[in-house]
Amino acid sequence: MAKENLECSFCGRKKSETNLLIAGLDAHICDKCIEQAHGIVVEEISTYNKHKIDQDLALQKPKAIKNFLDQYVIGQDYTKKVMAVAVYNHYKRLLQPKNKKDDVEIQKSNIIMVGRTGTGKTLVAKTIALMLNVPLAIVDATVLTEAGYVGEDVETILTKLLAAADYNVEKAQTGIVFIDEIDKIARKSDNPSITRDVSGEGVQQALLKLLEGTTVNVPPKGGRKHPDQNFIEINTENILFIAGGAFDGIERHISKRLNMQAVGYGASKMGEGLDKENMLQYIIPRDLKDYGLIPEIIGRLPVLSYMNPLDKESLRLILTEPKNAITKQYQKLFAMDNIELSFSDGALDHIVEKALEYKLGARGLRSLCEAVLTDAMFDLPDSDEKELRVTKNYVDKALKKYQAKKLKAVS
Ligand code: ADP
Repeated sequence: MAKENLECSFCGRKKSETNLLIAGLDAHICDKCIEQAHGIVVEEISTYNKHKIDQDLALQKPKAIKNFLDQYVIGQDYTKKVMAVAVYNHYKRLLQPKNKKDDVEIQKSNIIMVGRTGTGKTLVAKTIALMLNVPLAIVDATVLTEAGYVGEDVETILTKLLAAADYNVEKAQTGIVFIDEIDKIARKSDNPSITRDVSGEGVQQALLKLLEGTTVNVPPKGGRKHPDQNFIEINTENILFIAGGAFDGIERHISKRLNMQAVGYGASKMGEGLDKENMLQYIIPRDLKDYGLIPEIIGRLPVLSYMNPLDKESLRLILTEPKNAITKQYQKLFAMDNIELSFSDGALDHIVEKALEYKLGARGLRSLCEAVLTDAMFDLPDSDEKELRVTKNYVDKALKKYQAKKLKAVS
C-alpha cells in the first residue's frame, strides 16, 4: 500500500488525519486509538485490583483475626479482641456497595491503644497488616508539625503508606496507618493561647481530616525538598488509623475520676476492688481529654483499648512462644551455619530477670539475647562446633563480659 493510503486498522482514520500512525506486523494504530486503549487498560487494572483487594479482605472473621494475633502477640487479650472486632467492622464497612442508598452509614472504627512502651502496640498493628496483607505505614507523631513549620507535614503519613503499597493507590487506600506516640501531641496546658503550640493542637487539627476521611494531594517523594513533583491523590476514607501512646501519668487522671465518681450517686466505696497496679484497664475517652487530646480527635478514634504491663511470665513466653519468637530467630541464624542452638530453662529465666531488673521490658529481651550471643555468632561460623547450649552460667558470663566492656567504654 502506498504510504499516503495507510490507515488506522482500528478507527479507519487516514494517516494524514492522525498525528502518529504506528505500524505492526500487518496492521496500524493511530495516536488517538492508543490513548483510548490506554484508558481502557488503566480502568480495567484498577477494577481488577479493587476486586482482588475486596476478595482478600472478605474472609477474616473476628475469631480468626484474634487467633492469628495469638500466634504473634502474647497476652493482651482485651486489645486483641477489641482489635479483631474493630478491624472486622472496618473492612465490612469497606465492602459495602457504594451505590446502595440507605440512611445508615457505617462510620470508621479507628483505634487508639494506650499502654507503656514495649508492650506490643506496634506489634499488634504490624500483625493485623500482615494477616490482611495490606500495606502498613508506621509514623511517629512527634515529628509531625503544622504545615509551614520545621518538621513533617501531616500529609507525609500518606507518602509512607503509598511507598508501603509500592505506589499502588488502590492498595494504599485500604491500608493501615499506625501513628505512634500520639500522646506527645497532647495539648500541654489547658490554656493553649499563651504560646504557639506548633506540634500540639495544630497537628491534632491537621490529623482530624485524615482520620475522618478526605482526599489529600500527596507528594510521592514526601517532604518539602522536592517541590516540583506531581502530586498523587489519595482518599483516606477507607484507611484504618491505629494510634498508640504511653500516656505517661494518665493513671493520675483515671484515679482522680474514679475517686470523684465515688462521691457521686450510686458510688461504691472509694477505690474498693480496684486493681491499683493496672489502672489503665479503667480508661475511658474522658481521661484522654483530661490528658490533652482534643475531643474531636478522640471522637475520630472511637475504639479505645489498653495494653497490660508485661510481667515475668509474659516476658518468658515472648522469648519462646510467638511464631517469630526471638529465640526461634537466633536458632534459625545458627542453623544456617549448621549449628544447633538451644537454651536451658535457667538461661531463659535469667534473661527475663535481667530484662526486669534493667526495666527494659520486651524490647530489652532482644538486646540481651544479642549481648549473650554476639561472641558465639562471631566465633562459631569458623569452628567445627555443631551445637551451642546456652545455660544460666553462659548467660551470666556473657552479660558480665558485655557490661565490663560497656563500663570501659564509658570510663
Ligand atoms: P510498643 O509499640 O508498645 O512500644 P512494640 O510492639 O514495638 O511495643 O514491642 C517491642 C518488641 O517487644 C516487639 O518487637 C516484640 O518483639 C516484643 N513484644 C512486646 N510486646 C509483646 C507481646 N505482647 N507479645 C509478643 N512480643 C511482644
